[in-house]
Amino acid sequence: MSESRFPEFTLEMRKTHKILAPTMLPIHFDIIAPIFRSYGYDIEVLENYDSDVINEGLRNVHNDICYPAMLVIGQMIDALKSGKYDTDHTALMITQTGGGCRASNYIFLLRKALENCGLGHVPVISLNMTAFDKKSGFAFTVPMLIKLVFALTYGDMLMCLYNQCLPYEQNKGDSKKILDRWIEKLVGQMDGKGFVRVKKNYKAILRDFAAIPRTDVKKPRVGIVGEIYMKYSPLGNNRLEEFLVNEGAEPVVSGVADFMLYCFENISVDYKLYGNNRFARFPAKILSSYMIMRQKQMIKAIGKHGVFNAPTSFVELKNMSEGYIGKGTKMGEGWLLTAEMLELIHSGVNNIVCTQPFGCLPNHIIAKGMMKKIKEHHPDANIVAIDYDPSATKINQENRLKLMLANADGGRKVFNKTNSNKEKISV
Ligand code: SF4
Repeated sequence: MSESRFPEFTLEMRKTHKILAPTMLPIHFDIIAPIFRSYGYDIEVLENYDSDVINEGLRNVHNDICYPAMLVIGQMIDALKSGKYDTDHTALMITQTGGGCRASNYIFLLRKALENCGLGHVPVISLNMTAFDKKSGFAFTVPMLIKLVFALTYGDMLMCLYNQCLPYEQNKGDSKKILDRWIEKLVGQMDGKGFVRVKKNYKAILRDFAAIPRTDVKKPRVGIVGEIYMKYSPLGNNRLEEFLVNEGAEPVVSGVADFMLYCFENISVDYKLYGNNRFARFPAKILSSYMIMRQKQMIKAIGKHGVFNAPTSFVELKNMSEGYIGKGTKMGEGWLLTAEMLELIHSGVNNIVCTQPFGCLPNHIIAKGMMKKIKEHHPDANIVAIDYDPSATKINQENRLKLMLANADGGRKVFNKTNSNKEKISV
């Protein structure tokens, strides 16, 4: 099938078209979307979360396809059919990781689904690291890329601090207020130099989160790992972070910079193992060094401040899966997922939820497949794999999570008193 039969997003369309992007990382996307807008792309991150999304996914994507593809495509088709958008002046944006997994092929599934729905005239933009083509209607520029790297590290920092404050806040809503205030402030700084003066911003962000009145109740810390969409997207994981907080736990979620750095690292691995990507590895190396520098700066700021747990840098993380899984295992989240579980355990977070999407063979191997080995070396690890698919009921997922929480901290966990499930559960 030739790609040229599909409508392209042209330069002129920048002025005439709204661009819809699927949801995934709410905090990060609130900072990233305005960056795209400031470069002339009228982007909107979708917020349609209801059951029509998965129904559209099931209707328009083959039922063998992994669950994230169904949700991403379902969400876009549902939005286009909602009547809210003029489909003659709307384009869609989707990421392509460039790896061997289906994430590189969602775009073709989306285009086929659009044609089936009579929406074949809607152009689809592929967001990938080769989008530097000036002739295309969508292109990265170096300044834009630099701003995006800053936005990713701000997003990672805000997510990290928010998750450490929300479960302990004394006045409901305080953490969200600080989070929203900082997103607004960072977006406001985007056009000037303030946005890139990170040291000053980091200090002020840390000061504001640390000033939130918090209880000193000890709560179980629960790490979330998994396929990238399921790990972060509230649509994919049925608002997992919110659920854990309501159940009296503290969610621990690593930043998205690690996943980006993992993708860059895989380019070098490909070259070492197969001689592929000879030329791509140079720009990947430059970008990755830059991201590592930014990530280290953010981690240092949190560590120096001394109130919150700082994340582990990618440089340390990438060696953690050694002895468990080879670097050549890089479909889906590959060795990164194993490394993330080990990193959580090393930093004292023994309770881990591994989000598993339906139809995802790679993550069944690198997540479920590695759990036995991890537990052999770390008998205190309390890891649960939760399956997400169109037919899995939320209640089943929640019951498995409650069972895991009951085992948290050696089974001493008592559920949140505000929750309907008040009794102590012992297993
Ligand atoms: S990692 Fe799994 S869920 Fe993600 S694209 Fe690949 S098969 Fe699909």
